[in-house]
Amino acid sequence: MSDKRFAVASEHSLMRVFTVPEAPDSTLSKIEAEISSNLAGFLNENIAAVEKPLHEIERDFESAQIPEEPMFVSAHAQDIMDKLVAHSVHTAAPSFIGHMTSALPHFVLPLSKLMVGLNQNLVKIETSKAFTPLERQVIGMLHHMAYDRKQGFYDKWMHSAKTSLGAFCSGGTVANITALWIARNRLLKPEGDFKGIGAQGLIAAMFHYGYKGLAVLVSERGHYSLGKSADLLGIGRDHFISIPTDKDNKVDVEAMRKEAQALQAQGIKVMAIVGVAGTTETGNIDPLNEMADLAAEIDCHFHVDAAWGGATLLSQNARHLLAGIERADSITIDAHKQMYVPMGAGIVLFKDPTATDAIEHHAEYILRKGSKDLGSHTLEGSRPGMAMLVHACLRIIGRKGYEMLIDKSLDKARYFADLIKAEPDFELISEPELCLLTYRYVPEAIKARLKTADEQTKLDIYAALNRLSASMQKRQREAGRSFVSRTRLTPPEYDYQPTVVFRVVLANPLTSKEILQNILAEQRELALSDPMYKKYLAKYL
Ligand SMILES: *Cc1c(COP(=O)(O)O)cnc(C)c1O
Repeated sequence: MSDKRFAVASEHSLMRVFTVPEAPDSTLSKIEAEISSNLAGFLNENIAAVEKPLHEIERDFESAQIPEEPMFVSAHAQDIMDKLVAHSVHTAAPSFIGHMTSALPHFVLPLSKLMVGLNQNLVKIETSKAFTPLERQVIGMLHHMAYDRKQGFYDKWMHSAKTSLGAFCSGGTVANITALWIARNRLLKPEGDFKGIGAQGLIAAMFHYGYKGLAVLVSERGHYSLGKSADLLGIGRDHFISIPTDKDNKVDVEAMRKEAQALQAQGIKVMAIVGVAGTTETGNIDPLNEMADLAAEIDCHFHVDAAWGGATLLSQNARHLLAGIERADSITIDAHKQMYVPMGAGIVLFKDPTATDAIEHHAEYILRKGSKDLGSHTLEGSRPGMAMLVHACLRIIGRKGYEMLIDKSLDKARYFADLIKAEPDFELISEPELCLLTYRYVPEAIKARLKTADEQTKLDIYAALNRLSASMQKRQREAGRSFVSRTRLTPPEYDYQPTVVFRVVLANPLTSKEILQNILAEQRELALSDPMYKKYLAKYL
């Protein structure tokens, strides 16, 4: 009954929670041994194959009462195996191809335990003496990957107390907010009596500069985190302007130019334009060089949201897809997407090493002027040493390893696109530019019918197909064998009507061609047995 010793019931046992147990807790150490030697097998065995309805899961998490009495570690561990682990989503499964969250390399597991154990706080050197230089190096490596400056540049700036070449964040959302925060503060900088927006706020800044408002322009496929930034930074969601895209989901730069001119004519200053390098829904990349030209023309900040696609820069064979990114004033990259780092790793990079001056802040007890504390240039305060895991992946996988992973994902996406196109009852909606594509199930007879149908019949069939697609996706998820996500696009082949599509992200290196073939076979079966098929679509066959 060694477990008993870990019940936190007395002051003595409470203190023992903070020391290494002499005899390890049996349940926890069993879990630990299993995940250390065979994580994939452990997950396969312990995550239930068939989905349990959410409302039933919620019943296990109903009580709002903090437990009065301490609990044995073993009892807790067993309980979470049954209630939490068993109903977790198997994001690492090779047939889980619906989201950007995928499998992790095995070595991040023990390393992340070391990271948690060290519990370094990156906000200040005093709690992260070696981690701060490491994080600065990781930012420098990614800066070099994107901007390709000479080593001398990094010798000068990477460890400079004055600035930082980027900011390590919890994710792409905070990275985007930080980029636009800097864009805003650099635009509304101190001048004459005006002490800058940071000191005097937005209203005083508008008076001083004589603007009626600020605007940010981005493709209609831009990520919702940019809208949040517009809200937070006082720009307003109405001035966060979405610009139409062409048939390949790339922003129409000419339309963006016209919109920018119209806004400036109204006295509204375009603060930034944002290019998306890998849209979340379709994986397409905006024409970054043309956008850089536009930004220079209207004198505004050029941000590139490469949260998803940024890792493509690691492949010499594919990095040309992001040509022009090196002209961006700032770039967001999520290491927790295509760089196979666990969540909590977003990075924003700045072309100009002094850009972070615009948001610098100090405090007396930490972040003193002249210190190398990273916290003086970040939105977040206390932060974990996640850079350690990015660093590990960059070294252990290496640039060449990433190139192989990225090239393989791109090949696989092209393979899957060809597979879809070869099936008469499937339809590819967006071609993969990166390893992301969208498609749907459309019976051959319906395809034929749509060619001759009148307007109303077409709209009715579109609605029926939307119902079918949504229902299929849900049933596929519930069956638990495989997973694709779904989104809604407005493709020209559906007369720009809202169109529900399956969305696939081919990031897991273990996803095989056979799995992809099986997914189409499974979806065909699901379609034919779907209640929506019989109810709404069958009458048009
Ligand atoms: C995922 C993503 C984000 C947001 O990143 P989080 O890490 O989820 O905060 C922003 N932009 C794009 C293009 C993304 O794909």
